[in-house]
Amino acid sequence: MTGESVPFVTASSATSFDWRHSARCRDDDPETLFVQGAQQRDAREVCKACPVRTECLAHALDNRIRFGVWGGMTERERRALLKRRPDVISWAALLESARRAALASPPADPDAPARTRRAPARPAAPARPAAGGTQRHVG
Ligand code: SF4
Repeated sequence: MTGESVPFVTASSATSFDWRHSARCRDDDPETLFVQGAQQRDAREVCKACPVRTECLAHALDNRIRFGVWGGMTERERRALLKRRPDVISWAALLESARRAALASPPADPDAPARTRRAPARPAAPARPAAGGTQRHVG
């Protein structure tokens, strides 16, 4: 997490699960994480494999953290998301609910469409020229 604070270091909130302890960026040098502008795109690469990405993003959105990369989103991306969804009261609840729904739904069967789809009709074979190599001219 990059930005205005490093929550896993300065955290004062006590929850049963403190996602900050599992943060992939936990041991990163803060100087490399507190970046601005286009460098944020590079900084968020570390988030891609972070096991607590959802929690981190929800924390930033719920607390309206304005600066830095949180949960793989730049400050600009989060600002746009907040603007698009002013109706969301708790991003933590919304994202957790979305995650549970995704886990509860059966995985897509990549072979399903092939089994239910009819085999396409074979196109008619083009007419062969008559034996002897001559074709009738039509028209
Ligand atoms: S999602 Fe990114 S910024 Fe947030 S804890 Fe993980 S690595 Fe850090």
